[in-house]
Amino acid sequence: MTRTHGTQRSTRTRRSTRATRATRANRTPAAVAPALALALALAAGACGKDGSPPVKGPRPDDLPRYRVATAFRLPDSPTWNRAKRRGHLVVGAKEDQPYLGEKDPANGRYSGFDIEIAKMTAAFLGFGPAAVAFRTIASANRETALQNGQIDYYVGTYTINDNRKKLVGFAGPYYLAGQSLLVRSGEIGIKGPEDLAGKRVCSAAGSTPYQRIEAEYPRADLVAYDTYSICVDNLLTYQVDAVTTDDTILLGYAAKVPEELKVVGTPFSEEPYGIGVPRSDAALRLAVDDAIEANERNGNWKAAYDATLGLSGVPAPRPPAVDRYPAS
Ligand code: GLU
Repeated sequence: MTRTHGTQRSTRTRRSTRATRATRANRTPAAVAPALALALALAAGACGKDGSPPVKGPRPDDLPRYRVATAFRLPDSPTWNRAKRRGHLVVGAKEDQPYLGEKDPANGRYSGFDIEIAKMTAAFLGFGPAAVAFRTIASANRETALQNGQIDYYVGTYTINDNRKKLVGFAGPYYLAGQSLLVRSGEIGIKGPEDLAGKRVCSAAGSTPYQRIEAEYPRADLVAYDTYSICVDNLLTYQVDAVTTDDTILLGYAAKVPEELKVVGTPFSEEPYGIGVPRSDAALRLAVDDAIEANERNGNWKAAYDATLGLSGVPAPRPPAVDRYPAS
């Protein structure tokens, strides 16, 4: 299964040569079962039909309904105007991050905290749930997708930082995560990033956690894939020793197969999540800031958190203050 995954992805995307090495590494046949377990757990979590909610997944009845603004107008935003003419918003998201952004393979629906943030924002901008089309965009492709107009905005564990601000705009932050480590439950040698020397560590290409390990822990044997779920598959099949990214994402994978995986140590970075928008569209960015603040005030943010990300075991924190920076 892992081989198929790797091969499929490699034809479509750039991967580091180190990742190619990882794919070719010896497999432990006995270890294939846990990987299958993860795949099944992810699929089961996403496969609930109406009336039979998925185990531990977001239950549709618990999700808030967002009031759709009818008189909202944003004439200064080219993105908003284009979406109005089109009749719907196109929102970039993740599809394999439990409790954050997951796509149900049976019906194509997306669910999770980021998806709720996207929907409450859309409602504030005058677009109901039927007028939001989600599109999966991997970490490495977010800036390009926003720059070439493939998506109107992006909600998917997207860290705000100065480098990215040169390419895209960010509303928010709407959540503060931190980089952490996921290992197999029997692992005793890895408790923090200082233990990664000589260990095979997997993260997503183009992500801040990947960049941090590369810059600050150069003795780690780092491999990159498009998505964290491929990294987790590699962890379960003993091809890597740890997966690193935000605690939010890792806790979701661990919650799906708690007997196989654990998150270790304390978070070693700050990852403020923003909603990515086209850089030149300051009107949209500031309207999305308004949307975030309004939904934090009216209780929607917390209700959405409790029904999604809260299921991975962390009670709702206070959301961080929105940062309205001047256009440049
Ligand atoms: N928040 C980090 C980032 O934006 C890691 C998660 C992700 O790749 O989406 O790079």
